[in-house]
Amino acid sequence: MRVVSDVMTMDTNNVFTTKQALRQALDKHRTAGYSIGFVPTMGALHAGHGSLIERAAHENDVVVVSVFVNPAQFGPGEDFETYPRSLASDVSLATSFGATYVFAPSVDEMYSTARGAGASVASTRIVPSAVADLWEGALRPGHFEGVVLVVTKLLNSVCPHRAYFGEKDYQQLAVVRALAADLDLPVEIVGCPIVREADGLALSSRNVYLSDSERKVAQLLSQSIRLAQGQLQERQAIAADELISVVSDFLRDNSQGLLSIGYVAFVDADTLVPVEQVVPTTRMLLSVTVGTTHLIDNASLVA
Ligand code: AMP
Repeated sequence: MRVVSDVMTMDTNNVFTTKQALRQALDKHRTAGYSIGFVPTMGALHAGHGSLIERAAHENDVVVVSVFVNPAQFGPGEDFETYPRSLASDVSLATSFGATYVFAPSVDEMYSTARGAGASVASTRIVPSAVADLWEGALRPGHFEGVVLVVTKLLNSVCPHRAYFGEKDYQQLAVVRALAADLDLPVEIVGCPIVREADGLALSSRNVYLSDSERKVAQLLSQSIRLAQGQLQERQAIAADELISVVSDFLRDNSQGLLSIGYVAFVDADTLVPVEQVVPTTRMLLSVTVGTTHLIDNASLVA
C-alpha cells in the first residue's frame, strides 16, 4: 500500500452513506493513479473480514469496505431484520484493519431506483450462472440473485481494481467469479482463505446467535471436515456416497438433536458439481442449521 497522506486516516468524513459522495472521493484517487481495493461485507465485522481488509490494504493504495445488509439476498422467514448491525464498531474495526473508507448506504440509497407497489429492490434482474442453482442456491431460492445484484451495484459504485471475497462462502465466490468473467467486469476477484476460531469453527457474523450448547455443536462442522480428510488420507479415493454417510452419521450422532443437515457434499472445486469419487482436490461443502442458526463451512480435502 502506498502512503497517501490524505486517505490514511478515517474520521466521519471517511464514512460515506451515498453513492455520489463515495464516487467523488474515489474519483480523485483514481485520477491520481492510486489503486482501489474493495471488500464488500454485511457488517458485524470480525477477524475473517479483517483478513480480507488487511490483504486489500497490502495490495492497494486505497481500501473501501462496504457495510450493507442486503435485503435482496434474504428469503422470507430468514434473518434480515435480526441480522447483527453495529456500524460504529464496524467503522473502527475496519480502520484498524486498514480500510480507508467505509461505505454504509441505507436500503433506500442502495435501491433508490426501485419503483412500484411493493418494490424494495431494483427492478432489473441479473440471472447468476448455473453454479448458483446448486447447494445454497437450492436451499435458499433467490439468494444468489440478490447477491449478484448487490455485488454488481457495489462494484459499479466503487469501480475497484480488485475485490476481495472469502472462501468461507465458497459458492458465493464461484458465483461472483462467473459474474465478473461473464459480464466482463473490469475487476480482479481475489479469493481469501477461511479464518477459524481456535477450535475450528469458521468465524461468522451469525455465530453470535449460538447459545453455549449450540456453540459446542457447531464445532461438529470443522470436526467433520477433519474426519473426511482423515478417511481420505488412509484410502486416497473414496466413493462420495460412502463419505456422505460417514459424515452425516457423525453429525447426527453427536449433535444432541440440535443440528439439522442442509447438505453434505463432495464437489469439483471449480464447477461445484458433485463428484462420484472423492480425491484430495475435491471440495467438501457443508450446510447445517444449529438451533435456528444457518451455518456453512467448506474445505479442500488435502489434509
Ligand atoms: P459477510 O459480511 O458475511 O457477507 O462476509 C463478507 C465477506 O467476508 C465475504 O466475502 C465472506 O466470505 C468473508 N468472510 C466471512 N467470514 C469469513 C471467514 N471466517 N474467513 C474468511 N472470510 C470470511
